[in-house]
Amino acid sequence: MTSHAAVVARGMGAPCVSGCHEIEVDAGRETLTLLRSGKVLKKGDTITIDGATGEVMEGKVALIRSTSDANFQTVLEWADECRTMKVKANADTPNDARKARELGAEGIGLSRTEHMFFDPKRIDVVREMILANDKTERLAALEKLFVFQKEDMREIFEVMSGYPVTFRLLDPPLHEFLPSDAGDIAALAKRIGKDVTVVASKIKALEEVNPMLGLRGCRLGLAFPEITEMQARAVISAALEAKANGFDPRPEIMIPLVSVATELEVASALVHATAEAVMKAKGMEGQLKYKVGTMLELPRACLNARQLAPMIEFASFGTNDLTQSTFGFSRDDIGGFLPRYLEEKILDKDPFETIDVDGVGQLMRMAVDGVRGAEGGAKKLFGLCGEQGGDPKSLLFCQELGLDSVSCSPFRVPIARLAAAQAAIQQRKAQK
Ligand code: PEP
Ligand code: MG
Repeated sequence: MTSHAAVVARGMGAPCVSGCHEIEVDAGRETLTLLRSGKVLKKGDTITIDGATGEVMEGKVALIRSTSDANFQTVLEWADECRTMKVKANADTPNDARKARELGAEGIGLSRTEHMFFDPKRIDVVREMILANDKTERLAALEKLFVFQKEDMREIFEVMSGYPVTFRLLDPPLHEFLPSDAGDIAALAKRIGKDVTVVASKIKALEEVNPMLGLRGCRLGLAFPEITEMQARAVISAALEAKANGFDPRPEIMIPLVSVATELEVASALVHATAEAVMKAKGMEGQLKYKVGTMLELPRACLNARQLAPMIEFASFGTNDLTQSTFGFSRDDIGGFLPRYLEEKILDKDPFETIDVDGVGQLMRMAVDGVRGAEGGAKKLFGLCGEQGGDPKSLLFCQELGLDSVSCSPFRVPIARLAAAQAAIQQRKAQK
């Protein structure tokens, strides 16, 4: 559910099954072996995959196109009247944002800004930034990225005019952007005009044994403040441009993977200083409202959320990482044991799909209580933007917790609207 491939594919509305341990793919022979039966499929044989359940089926399964007739719209309108939680979308590009609005999203709860870098025309600039020899080289690459990023952000603000858009600062481990194959490394070195041995050794140095616990999240921006500065500048400049074009941008900047309050103190101070400087330089001081918030996706942040409260106006539960770090399960790599756990009923559900109320949920509850109990805490907004945000069973818990919004991939927005209404009705009935 939560590996990078699955998350990106879901955002595109494409089915994806990743980490399928019961299948062995031999790329050289172009075959796929079903490990249980030993059956071999060849290139060209048809299979069908269900990205929601992780099933891989032999042959072509009959499909029907989903329709959204007037009745469907009516039911969703009824749902909108009943629900109390807002439903936003996880959307990274102007096209995703358009789709999200079409499907009724009330803003963007998570824009993973790194996804704006994956375009083939942009990826080498990101690599130049990562492989820079010094700060001067890094700043030059960041300046090129600023142009792409600001343009995408402006368009997203314009599509989402009047609705909040949360841009999350760069999060993933840097090696995710880099090639690993020797041929690809040599080609990259040539394209960016660097010595191949230097590039190869830099890539080697960036390798991490456990990248999900490594140099990522706010740690990236603290190690390289110029990245945070560029991204905050891009968000605010884009919002000012959208405003000048007659739109109503509502920017929110979100700082990921925080564990201690001092990380948030340093990162949020830099975001505020940059935002104010951009407005001042354009003679627009105080003319744009923006919010700064954090993701709650590590147990320590939840345990000490009260200390984070003074630096944030909103917080969003990153339940992908929070599930990973609470269970100690790798979100990319649970295929090796999770099916067995479910079969043997060691777990009754996949916690990456449906919130684990007894464990992860307890941390979430502590975080909400911690922030809301702090001075001025009652006004802080809480959301959830992990994959569970599109899972109807998880939404009842979000409702009980008093979250203000949930955010899921655009194509899951209609089901989340319906499930949020069902959760609100169920809660009302329980309170009677
Ligand atoms: C999360 O961790 O739940 C989250 C939304 O962020 P990402 O999946 O990008 O780590
Ligand atoms: Mg995360």
